[in-house]
This record gives sequence, C-alpha cells and structure tokens, in this order.
Amino acid sequence: MSRCLAERSIDHVVLERGEVAHTWRTERWDSLRLLTPNWQSRLPGFGYDGDDPDGYRTIPEVIAFIESYAKAIAAPVRTHTTVTSVRSTDAGYLVRTQPDDWHCRTVVLASGACNIARVPAVANLLPPSIATLTAQQYRNPDQLAGGGVLVVGASASGTQIASEVRRSGRPVMLAVGEHIRAPRMYRGKDLEWWMDAAGVLDERYDAIDDVERARRVPSLQLAGTPDRSTLDLNALTDMGVTLAGRLAGIANGKAQFAGSLRNMCALSDLKMGRLLDTIDAWIDTWARDHGLDGTVEPPHRLPPTRVADTPPLILDLAAGGIATIIWCTGYRPDYTWLELPILDRKGMVRHDGGVTASPGLYLMGIPFMRRRKSTLIDGAGQDARELSAHLASYLDGRAARIVA
Ligand SMILES: Cc1cc2nc3c(=O)[nH]c(=O)nc-3n(C[C@H](O)[C@H](O)[C@H](O)COP(=O)(O)OP(=O)(O)OC[C@H]3O[C@@H](n4cnc5c(N)ncnc54)[C@H](O)[C@@H]3O)c2cc1C
Repeated sequence: MSRCLAERSIDHVVLERGEVAHTWRTERWDSLRLLTPNWQSRLPGFGYDGDDPDGYRTIPEVIAFIESYAKAIAAPVRTHTTVTSVRSTDAGYLVRTQPDDWHCRTVVLASGACNIARVPAVANLLPPSIATLTAQQYRNPDQLAGGGVLVVGASASGTQIASEVRRSGRPVMLAVGEHIRAPRMYRGKDLEWWMDAAGVLDERYDAIDDVERARRVPSLQLAGTPDRSTLDLNALTDMGVTLAGRLAGIANGKAQFAGSLRNMCALSDLKMGRLLDTIDAWIDTWARDHGLDGTVEPPHRLPPTRVADTPPLILDLAAGGIATIIWCTGYRPDYTWLELPILDRKGMVRHDGGVTASPGLYLMGIPFMRRRKSTLIDGAGQDARELSAHLASYLDGRAARIVA
C-alpha cells in the first residue's frame, strides 16, 4: 500500500509497533517455511530473483525479503510506534500512538488478520496439569514437556506442528475439524502454480455466492518442505499420529471428540477432488489452444483419507499421557484500539472489498478481502493498487468539495 500511495504522490506514513516484519520475527515457529513458493511472493515492482523460484522461504528469508522491500521502496516506516486508538474527527481521523498523535484524512488498517490465536471456550475446562500453548506461542518441540501432545486443528499450522512434534518422538493425537486437503505437487507442478495459472486465486469477493463463508474457510493443508512432500492426514497417520474428530468438549479431565471424523475427511477429499477437477478443466482448455509441454503429467487422484474403524471419542487426558495441548484453531485480528462503529457482532471490520463504511478508512490483508489470494503476501499488491485508486479518488472528491 505504501508503494502504491507513493506512486500516486500521496503523502503517508507507516506506523509499526515493532520492527519491519514484526509478526514474522515474533509469532512464528522456528522451522516454519512459507507454504507458497518463492516466485509467488510478488509485491508491487518486486519479486524473487534468486536461483530457487520453486523453493519455500524460511522465516529469516521472509524477514529479509520484507526488509529489503521496505528499503527498496523507501517506505516511510516509523518503527516502535504502537497505534493505541483511531477515532474520527471533523477533518478525518485522529490516530493516537504511544509516542505521538497523528491527524490524517485517510487511514489504511493493515495491522494483520492473525493478531490473536483463536482458542475454543472448552480450554477453560482443562485440568491445570495440562500445559497449553497456541500455534503463535509454539516455537519447537524442545519447549514442550515430555509426554503426549494433543494438537487441536488440522489445517496448515496444525498439520505442520503435529508432524514436527511427532518427529521429536512424542505420541501425538490430532483433533480434526473442517480442513482442506491438498497435494503439494499435482501433474508435475506445485499446486499453487496451478491455482495461480487457472485463476483460482484471482476469484473475486463479489463474484462468489457466499463470501462470508469463504472468508472463514481454513487454510489449505500445505507445507513448504524441501522434499515437496504432501502433508495430509494419511502422511500423518503413516508417521504414527492418531486422528480423532473435532474436539467437542472437556469434562472431568476427559476430552470428548465429535463422531464426525469420517464425514469431515470425506468432505475434504471431495473438495480436493473439485479443486483438481477445476485445474484439469483449465489444463484441457489451455492445451487445446497452446499444446502442453512434456512437464505436465496426466491427471491423478490421491487415495481417500484413511480413518480408523473406531476413532477415539473420549480421551482421559491424564491417563492417556497427554501433557500438552497445542491450539491450532485459527487466528483473528485485534481491533480493540479502533474507536469507530464499523465492527460486526464478531468484532470484524465490516467492509466491501476493503472499503469500510467510515469514509477514507480502508482495510488490507484480510482473508478473501478482494480476491481469494488476499490472504497471501501475493494478494497484497493487486488489492493495494485498487484500494489506493479508491483512496485517491476519495481525496480528490474531498478536495473538490472543500474548493466548492
Ligand atoms: C502461521 C502463518 C503462516 C503463513 N504462511 C504464509 C505463506 O506461506 N504464504 C503467504 O503468502 N502468506 C502466509 N501467511 C499469511 C501472511 O502472514 C499474510 O499474507 C501477510 O502477513 C499479511 O501481511 P500484513 O502486512 O497484512 O499483516 P502482518 O504481516 O500481520 O503485519 C501486520 C503488522 O501490523 C503491526 N501492528 C499490529 N497492530 C498494530 C498496532 N496497534 N500499532 C502498530 N502496528 C501494529 C504488526 O506488528 C505487524 O507488523 C501466513 C500467516 C500465518 C499466521
């Protein structure tokens, strides 16, 4: 957004509570790699120029990438400046920060979609002997007490953490709710390559049936490992991870799991099949006009997710040897500092493709904000181009009204 505002000669400042790339420095586990390939982190006027476009960035590489972008575009970043409130004034907005106040005509909320880990209310019912942490607090298996680990949530964070903890030698149970299975490689290319080429990631928020639902859909079960392997529930079962249904309750030190594991997995297999059908159809159309090179393999499908005949429905946490629970149940933004009547009942900013009901106030970096890829680094550029155009015409209209 800063780059797009600069291109339009719109004077602005970027307020950051920590350092550039703060969340990547402070809220990610040590071994995390991006699940999007290097070529896919495209920012306005900036892309990957290394010799491994299909690799997956480590966290230090992500930090270096964002830092070098900030430097390349000379972004006017004020670090260690925490915004403590935003409220409207006759002239626009008053933005209070710890060191000082700012008066501005427009504000872009780019404070992230993943500020707070979502933890289900049942967490309050856990016996005190069980240690708990969120995916945001998890760093590596050495941080965990000995004994078994229950990982709750089977999307990208949950499957990756379950795999790492299991490889450390601990018994791991994974509570599986709604999730989206995805092969890392398909027909000889990275799944993200196909989703990008086939336009799946470009689907617009105003062109799909139920955008509210789409905004809540969990992340794809993908991991960016050097061996480009698929990390699905079958892979975890092969490693010795026990699968259970969604964590439905906790009573008397016992975890209760929903009996829907088989259905959840069948639904996930079905959705994966639909995504691969879309990709196959796109490849067929493309091939008719352009032909295919030898790198595109024939279509194939993954075997169904294997589910035990009687998955556990109840687990006595102490007797079952569970010492730690890791909540991988998603994230939500923090807008507690926003003093504007633009939040819905769930505390999310109401918006139309990033344009809020508060004139001159915009949003960035929210799932499916304008496109499916808005949730990715790669989606920020196009969103920022469009929203900065809206912001510029808002400022022009305002200036014209003042002159009149
Ligand atoms: C575990 C995890 C893995 C991910 N993996 C990938 C991936 O593989 N590929 C991909 O493309 N995307 C991935 N994402 C999504 C990616 O994080 C987002 O696309 C991207 O970070 C969005 O950038 P952003 O600047 O909008 O938000 P953020 O990166 O969250 O940045 C928001 C910034 O705002 C600052 N801030 C917050 N509140 C305040 C305040 N009150 N005052 C001042 N500053 C404040 C924060 O310190 C932070 O630096 C992942 C996300 C998570 C959580």
